Amino acid sequence: MPMTPLEELRHSCSHVLATAVLRLFPEAKLDIGPPTDTGFYYDFDLEHKFTTEDLARIEAEMKKIAEENQPFRRSEVPRAEAVEIIKRIGQERYKLGRLADIPEGEAISFYQNGEFVDLCAGTHVRYTAKLKAFKLLSIAGAYHRGDEKNKQLQRIYGTAFPSKDELAAYLNQLEQARLRDHRKLGRELKLFHIDEDVGQGLILWTPNGAIVRQELQTFIGEELRKQGYLQVFTPHIGKLELYKTSGHFPYYKESQFAPVIENQSLAKVLGENCSCGEVFARLDAVSSHLRDQINARTGRETITPERVRPDDQLLDGFMLKPMNCPHHIKIYAAQPRSYRDLPIRLAEFGTVYRWEQSGELTGMTRVRGFTQDDAHLFCTEEQVAGELLGCLSLVKIVLTTLGLADYRVRVGLRDPDSGKYTGETALWDKAEAACRTAAQTLGVPFTEEPGEAAFYGPKIDFVIKDVIGREWQLGTVQVDYNLPIRFDLSYIGADNAAHRPVMIHRAPFGSLERFCGVLIEHFAGDFPAWLAPEQVRIVPISEKTLDHARTLLARLKAEGLRAALDEHSDKLGAKIRRAELDKVPYTLVIGQKEAEANSVSVRSRARGDEGVLAAEAFIARLKSEVAARALPEKRRPAGA
Ligand SMILES: [Zn+2]
Ligand SMILES: [Zn+2]
Repeated sequence: MPMTPLEELRHSCSHVLATAVLRLFPEAKLDIGPPTDTGFYYDFDLEHKFTTEDLARIEAEMKKIAEENQPFRRSEVPRAEAVEIIKRIGQERYKLGRLADIPEGEAISFYQNGEFVDLCAGTHVRYTAKLKAFKLLSIAGAYHRGDEKNKQLQRIYGTAFPSKDELAAYLNQLEQARLRDHRKLGRELKLFHIDEDVGQGLILWTPNGAIVRQELQTFIGEELRKQGYLQVFTPHIGKLELYKTSGHFPYYKESQFAPVIENQSLAKVLGENCSCGEVFARLDAVSSHLRDQINARTGRETITPERVRPDDQLLDGFMLKPMNCPHHIKIYAAQPRSYRDLPIRLAEFGTVYRWEQSGELTGMTRVRGFTQDDAHLFCTEEQVAGELLGCLSLVKIVLTTLGLADYRVRVGLRDPDSGKYTGETALWDKAEAACRTAAQTLGVPFTEEPGEAAFYGPKIDFVIKDVIGREWQLGTVQVDYNLPIRFDLSYIGADNAAHRPVMIHRAPFGSLERFCGVLIEHFAGDFPAWLAPEQVRIVPISEKTLDHARTLLARLKAEGLRAALDEHSDKLGAKIRRAELDKVPYTLVIGQKEAEANSVSVRSRARGDEGVLAAEAFIARLKSEVAARALPEKRRPAGA
């Protein structure tokens, strides 16, 4: 695909970046430097570790190169000559491999600007002077070809825009994002912790964060009950055979933790002196009984003969659950179901585990263990459309309450030319029509994306826009014809015959971890009172009003409010500053006058000084604000 003019500009910057790096660090070995969605990077292999001071020097050198106004010159050469050029410029280490990636018969080209020569397919701006607004941003580790087995290189990230104004606007947005970064705020506000000894990507919800999560769960739980959902609880593991039946194992093996093997089974394979390869093969294998069941249910050779092993060669084990569906399916299947029982909506804040590469992990938003706001709906085909509407209305209520009213949906449809989808065409047509209608009813922008459906059914994804205009992909609602077949689910219809239910999987907010991470950034840590870990901070002006402050604290707590008392002996200004830094929605200043009149001098984080109120009036007002799950009327800019 040809580059857009912006990509061309940014990619040219990566050439200029490499030019500057080689001027300052001639021993650097170069890998690649493509444009990205937001800028560009180049990967370097260099003994010296780049520092932030280096970035400034490199950027200054890049400015010089731009001023030198070097033309970018392309030359096409035969492969043998390309090898010679790479050797001449001393860049054999990675560039020979990159050259080998170019298929035979395809053009091999180099681009030269000034003294710098790079193997590159292009394209570029014509002169380096076209690069007027760029900035180097950060240094990160990156494995050669993204493979952890390879050497880690140093990646320098930068961005570039056609004009200085656009660059400034982008840098301002980055600064806003930095101030809102949930990893930074999570630490400052003591919301969560990640500990190397526990494991990367595993969130420890500290008391403050646990309050936010609990309030969200209570809120979502209330809405679920209104919609007729039934709460269930299921364990964190399930037998390997369950996931062989569902198809989650071994097909998604790379994205899951390895199975947990029972002591007895492990002792048995060790006793047989099995090789490691054999152990893995036995874990993947299925019994002929399971094969017969699945193949009969799906009506095709879903499980191929080479996966079948005699029963005494099967290895038992458990999986940390990668999804909650099979457990909920077993609850559905635990008793006979009639059409009168449907729809059955089983909900659980279910914790699942997925294996993410360590390089992909970020704070709460990319993790290895997370709790989905999960539910599975079992319904008749006729009920699918109505159930989808219910799912969407729930999302609307929750997002509106949180001030995330700006969102869009993506409807993932099947690719009509692909044969990978299971289920009958007529069912697909119906389900896709239901998804489309549901999205239309929402009254928000939506796009239809053919080829984006899951292989078992169409889906609806949610993408929200936060207060600084960033988009976050949240969860999804999916229609599924496949698992009810694989688990042979049924209900008895009005005709007294057995019918197959349709399943809807839905986790509209994705996971509580991700959702909280997004909320921290959206609110910049300034949670509305109902979510704030500490709602009220009492600040006595001096020792003299301390006793009265303690009585007030007890009164607030008795009303179910989350309050704390600042008992430090430092100055009033320092105490107020501390409450500001902790982003407590209300600070109550108690002086002699307030103590005598049982009143409070109220400072609202959202609205500033609110003057003196009777203590009871303040309590009543805050209680109704919390009960209404109200948003602060006016939010301050991040960092204030
Ligand atoms: Zn290039
Ligand atoms: Zn599911």
